[in-house]
Amino acid sequence: MGFCPINFCAVAVTSLLSSPFFSGSVMVLDIDVHFGNGIADIVKGKDRVKYASVHQDDIYPGDTKTSASGNVWKLALGGGTEGGEWRVGVKQGLDWLLEGADKTRDVLVVCVGYDGLGSDPLAGMNLKPGDYGDVAGDISRSWDTYR
Ligand SMILES: [Zn+2]
Repeated sequence: MGFCPINFCAVAVTSLLSSPFFSGSVMVLDIDVHFGNGIADIVKGKDRVKYASVHQDDIYPGDTKTSASGNVWKLALGGGTEGGEWRVGVKQGLDWLLEGADKTRDVLVVCVGYDGLGSDPLAGMNLKPGDYGDVAGDISRSWDTYR
């Protein structure tokens, strides 16, 4: 139900999981302001993949409430959320994804939409461009240090 004609994250995940050359797991961190209901539906219940989404509550496409079920983890943040709170939420998602992961064989796929910016006309978060740079650093450090 998203705006993208091709869900590149879903293509990456399904390509990895079907590759005879890849035997690890795929962790998907989705930081678009909208819940990724399409990729969540594609990976739900599948082995070797975990999906975490940090998104705005109560906006398109719905089904945004915070929850954790099987391999799908969702954190809904309120409209007006600023970068500090967002980064804490993203770190929670990363910690959940990386628990038990093995970076010598596993892959982290990050789905990024910049529609959490305060200037985005379709959503209501209040992120600044630098928040995306900060969270990229957080992701890199988490990946480097968890194991
Ligand atoms: Zn979006």
